[in-house]
Amino acid sequence: MSPKPGWEKAAPEPAQKDDSQLRQKKMLAEHYTRLENAPRTGEKNVYTFVPGNLTELLRSFDLLPVLPEINALQSAMRGKSREYISLAEKAGHSEDVCTYVKCDLGMKKSGNVGPTGQKLPDPDLLLLSYTGCFTFMKWFEILQREYDCPMVMLHVPYQGGGAITDNMRQYVVSQLREKVIPVLESVTGKKFDEDELRERLRKSAQAEEDFVHVLESARNRPSPIDSYFGGVYYIGPIFTAFRGTDAAVDYYRELRAEVDERVRLGKGPVLPDGELEEEKFRIVVEGPPNWTHFREFWKMFSDEGAVAVASTYTKVGGVYDLGFRHDPDHPLETLADYCMGCYTNLNLPSRVKMISQYVRDYQADGFLINSVKSCNSFSAGQLLILREVENACGRPGGFIESDLVDPRYFSAANIKNRLESYFQMIEQKRGGAPGAAAVGEGGGR
Ligand code: SF4
Repeated sequence: MSPKPGWEKAAPEPAQKDDSQLRQKKMLAEHYTRLENAPRTGEKNVYTFVPGNLTELLRSFDLLPVLPEINALQSAMRGKSREYISLAEKAGHSEDVCTYVKCDLGMKKSGNVGPTGQKLPDPDLLLLSYTGCFTFMKWFEILQREYDCPMVMLHVPYQGGGAITDNMRQYVVSQLREKVIPVLESVTGKKFDEDELRERLRKSAQAEEDFVHVLESARNRPSPIDSYFGGVYYIGPIFTAFRGTDAAVDYYRELRAEVDERVRLGKGPVLPDGELEEEKFRIVVEGPPNWTHFREFWKMFSDEGAVAVASTYTKVGGVYDLGFRHDPDHPLETLADYCMGCYTNLNLPSRVKMISQYVRDYQADGFLINSVKSCNSFSAGQLLILREVENACGRPGGFIESDLVDPRYFSAANIKNRLESYFQMIEQKRGGAPGAAAVGEGGGR
């Protein structure tokens, strides 16, 4: 069955669609069609999370991944999240609960129709990969009550000390070997095939190489990409259901060639209203985007000639630009390292270091924090990050607030106001005006 019209509404996109973007749409459409047909074809699926996902391992068992966070953000882009959140709140979930959770529960109560307008199958397994967010545990406790299926948890230690030790690695590997893999074997009836896993990890590393090349293209002036709003599209396959597949390898190879061509032609990124004519501001962005007003939010930046040259959100499902690649020679160890290395599993000093490095490496004019109400994994410590990064790199920080998928927390006038003040401050700094402070919390508004 082909995707329904809802799909077209699901993702507000840049004005011009490149071949890679069309390819990604096709990949997603095929994936959701397989999921819709799963009750008839017998294909099995697993609900799991983006950070610390074990896609290569799941695919080696012929399992189709379903990512509830992706469903939630796509529901917001389709204008459904208000209704879904309201249903969850009526069922007793407090206003303070992460809105991804409430959106997902509301979607389930409304028939579990996914991003393409096609019904999602019930899970055959819940795989709780726990990377740094306590909400993950509560979320899957709720889903466990909703569905009649097994659940397995992979506990991923937080990088509190700022590094992965061998003990931490072995702790994750032993859980994979003794808990996760036996459950996957039992759910699918298939024996673990380490050679197949190695082959998938090899493909992951190939795609990751091209993905990093795309991210690093933003070092050019003008940057050929927007690494936050545009970056959302680039992370699609590698953060969701496709790492370790030929489709992902082909997608990133094609994307890389397109971006290289833009560099060759000296072009800036494609924005909601067409190509950027003049790159006026280069900024680094910390925090997830708002999904309910994605296009409007993006336009507030593009109207100012502001391009995100790096972002932390594009590292939430894996940090590759600092050198990590999946290693087929150490299949379980590399999965452990991947899980422990996701952005929200890093301590605050590591996050400060990363953002400061981005500001310097990408010659950014400043950095901006979008603090989302829902997500403590991101928001806790962001004011500290603001001060520390300013001190470390001497560039002005800005602070705005919104939410992931709850439209009640998107105040367009307030955000636009702060952004305009922020970009004015950068202009003043360029002109040598003294004493410019952070815009937003505690700064000049
Ligand atoms: S609190 Fe943040 S990391 Fe945790 S589930 Fe919600 S959005 Fe994801």
